[in-house]
Amino acid sequence: MSGGTAPGTWLIRGVRPLGGQPADIRIDGPVIAEITPPGRGAAGGAGATLDGDGLIALPGLVDLHTHLREPGREDAETVASGTAAAALGGFTAVHAMANTEPVADTAGVVEQVWRLGLAAGRCDVRPVGAVTAGLRGARLAELGAMADSAAHVRVFSDDGRCVADATLMRRALEYVKAFDGVIAQHAQEPRLTEGAQVNEGEISARLGLTGWPAVAEEAIIARDCLLAAHVGSALHVCHVSTAGSVEIIRWAKSKGWRVSAEVTPHHLLLTDDLAAGYDPVFKVNPPLRTAADVAALRAGLADGTIDCVATDHAPHPVEAKESEWSEAAFGMTGLETALRVVHEAMVSTGLLDWPQIADRMSARPAAIGRLAGHGRPIEPGSPANLVLYDPSFVGTVDPAVHASRSVNTPFAGMKLPGQVVATFLRGTPVVLGGKLAG
Ligand SMILES: [Zn+2]
Repeated sequence: MSGGTAPGTWLIRGVRPLGGQPADIRIDGPVIAEITPPGRGAAGGAGATLDGDGLIALPGLVDLHTHLREPGREDAETVASGTAAAALGGFTAVHAMANTEPVADTAGVVEQVWRLGLAAGRCDVRPVGAVTAGLRGARLAELGAMADSAAHVRVFSDDGRCVADATLMRRALEYVKAFDGVIAQHAQEPRLTEGAQVNEGEISARLGLTGWPAVAEEAIIARDCLLAAHVGSALHVCHVSTAGSVEIIRWAKSKGWRVSAEVTPHHLLLTDDLAAGYDPVFKVNPPLRTAADVAALRAGLADGTIDCVATDHAPHPVEAKESEWSEAAFGMTGLETALRVVHEAMVSTGLLDWPQIADRMSARPAAIGRLAGHGRPIEPGSPANLVLYDPSFVGTVDPAVHASRSVNTPFAGMKLPGQVVATFLRGTPVVLGGKLAG
């Protein structure tokens, strides 16, 4: 059973799968070939060896919500730079949001993004298709053509904007049933959030900025849960940010409706009082909320009401973020810090263990995104999509060493636990020693 010396054969010694007992993992070509007690494996024949002492192995992370910005805003990010950032963060698959220029609302654009991902080769890129043509919210985009395309689109979203028209939302939910698709909603009632800048509450009143009320998110989520149930289709709720939203989703799930939800790392760790310094690096949509909301989001992710973590990685060029608060763009980068932030918010607090992190950051997002080759258990025969992570490391976040073209991380200078040491994509190391390989 010992491996040959061909490239693509790796022995990872003494690593702890899902944080459990140490083991040797042998990778042969694109798959996990063997997992044995440490020192007892097929050591001799392996082509390359990696010392996994002190590291944990998780299945490659899957992001349901990444803005790669290409085509159109390559000054902020490209598919190549964004997938490099993803690999450094431990992701082996990302879903690329549709609000590019041009919008990913046709088979042609989603195939272009998919091909760029293949060419970059560091992380699988699954394009998200727009729900409405041009994200204009007036008529449905070519959902069927995108589903049938080489990109095999299954997740559709107008993210950045809400599908506010209830009839269009209903029709979109009905349409995607034919190919087991899902509509991912950016829940933001537009009239209730006109000019909104920060969470509506004590902070917005104190800073004199227009508030973004929780009800604007919760009203859309409630409506869409009811619509999804009514037509028997699948709804996914993007970046849940309020305690009330968690309650509504818990209720919808208790009915057996096909509703899933994500929360971002930043909404699990940061609160709206950070806006008090008027630093637009903390400006994001939906906005940072209160400590009570953060506690509810953590509890919701812990009990499974919120299915998964998604980054909403939203790179912006410096000039879009270094302006007055009211003029600055919404959004934060997140791929390269996601696992560390979730470690801090959920593992260090005892709310989730590593097997549950693998579930919330790999298995469930892969299932929601209909990605067959990702989110699999770490066992022989599974694709060798793996992240090796050092949980005992503690370090300061430095965007200067990030691969993203943009530096708008709210975590810059923050001390966080953990470090991604290696990422394997179908047996090929794309990150080694914490740096891009090859
Ligand atoms: Zn959004």
